[in-house]
Amino acid sequence: MDARHFDPDAGTDVLIAGAGPAGCAAAIVCASAGLRTVLAERLAGPVARPGEALHPGAETVLARLLPGGFADAVGARHEGITVGWGTEPRFEPFGRDGNGPWRGFQVDRRRLDALLLDRARAAGAEVRLGCRVREPVVERGAVTGSDSTVRPRRCAPVPSSTPRAAPAG
Ligand SMILES: Cc1cc2nc3c(=O)[nH]c(=O)nc-3n(C[C@H](O)[C@H](O)[C@H](O)COP(=O)(O)OP(=O)(O)OC[C@H]3O[C@@H](n4cnc5c(N)ncnc54)[C@H](O)[C@@H]3O)c2cc1C
Repeated sequence: MDARHFDPDAGTDVLIAGAGPAGCAAAIVCASAGLRTVLAERLAGPVARPGEALHPGAETVLARLLPGGFADAVGARHEGITVGWGTEPRFEPFGRDGNGPWRGFQVDRRRLDALLLDRARAAGAEVRLGCRVREPVVERGAVTGSDSTVRPRRCAPVPSSTPRAAPAG
């Protein structure tokens, strides 16, 4: 089938390209808000990748995205980082308040990404694995769909300046 063929009966409000933390977070928020959301990921599923040392502030965001918790993705907690740039390495604490030191954490990225993907599904997003988004389809100055490796969907036109989280095709 022509990848640019639109199915006029299949409505989609938002197409998100990439199911990393950013894409999953966008899908969770959009689907939870009632938008018909498609999350397209070119890979077959979560893979091991770098990005495992998270600062304390990430905990607040993840707690909102994953109300069921994410403890099983968390390894060691740490109270700061050791930095050095042409000098003797020195330990820099994250900070502290009345409850004690703020703690960052090491996460298992594959596990964390899988939790976020599951949450996006549970929120109502349609997850398409193995689907590479090639480019948005722009008609008369508006994004009306996308060119992807899986049959695209039609969506309501929106301004074509919309960045990464482009409405669907
Ligand atoms: C060596 C290294 C070490 C790092 N260490 C840390 C660290 O310790 N702590 C930290 O917080 N961050 C770290 N980072 C950064 C962290 O990995 C990124 O900030 C984070 O992964 C970005 O998330 P993202 O969702 O924006 O993108 P990504 O995690 O890169 O996810 C993007 C997803 O989009 C998919 N995709 C791409 N193109 C398409 C397409 N056309 N169609 C469909 N799917 C597509 C990809 O397959 C991928 O799954 C590190 C990065 C590197 C490279």
